Amino acid sequence: MKKILDYSETIPQRGHQDRGRAPDENEDLFFDRKKDGVCPFCKIHTQVVHTDHQLTYPDWLDGGKFDIQENVKQCSNCGWWRIRCDKLTTIGIDARSFAMESAILKSYDLSSKQVPIEALRKHLAVSFDDVIHIHDRNMEKLVQSVFREHYSCDVEHVGRSHDGGIDLILVNADSPTVVQVKRRKSLDHIEGVAGIREFLGATILQNGKNCIYVSTSKKFSQPAIEAARQAIKVGAVESYELFDFDRFCDVLKLTTEIDPTPWKSYLRKEW
Ligand SMILES: [Zn+2]
Repeated sequence: MKKILDYSETIPQRGHQDRGRAPDENEDLFFDRKKDGVCPFCKIHTQVVHTDHQLTYPDWLDGGKFDIQENVKQCSNCGWWRIRCDKLTTIGIDARSFAMESAILKSYDLSSKQVPIEALRKHLAVSFDDVIHIHDRNMEKLVQSVFREHYSCDVEHVGRSHDGGIDLILVNADSPTVVQVKRRKSLDHIEGVAGIREFLGATILQNGKNCIYVSTSKKFSQPAIEAARQAIKVGAVESYELFDFDRFCDVLKLTTEIDPTPWKSYLRKEW
């Protein structure tokens, strides 16, 4: 079973010690060093992807120093990360504290209904062929999420409550656009003309003027493409857009931001 990893949530840890001994370089008062630096999921060593060091002698410390070290470790295999900030305040004696933020590892079956759509988008943006494994319901939600950004409009998910094969409605104008979503079990499937005609019928019966047919198939058959053109030509609808695998994949990639530094927003917070 294919898995999707999601690190969109984090867990914070804090520690403080007022009366420090003389700092020992090799000792970590707060954390087992052996465990630090190992990805809890892959069990391999993480890489240091960011470091920052600040040494200051602020007036209010009266000759004391303020030493902040920050580093981020990330797993090169799965992307898991941990940011750690150590603060050493010295006024004669040392006070040490640390703050840590770790990504929470969540793993989902690709075909599960529970996969968060954002995690699914990120996964498919790099492995779009996996689209054949995802849950039907998630396919509709995926298209909804992608089209919402692509067309900059509200997209309603109607799904099964609506008849005629209308899965989504783009609320982008006086005349909304209706959308049908087909996730095929095989990428080699060719979308035939029958489905195109049937959806045209459903659109007209809903008094729709614009429709979009999205399929994970590699392509639409020539008669299918012709039928969509003809529907516009005879004025049955104003627009009939066909999205095949490549076209939808392009839009998904375009609208999905893969953040290589998901930890960035946690840097240098008020620890
Ligand atoms: Zn890992």
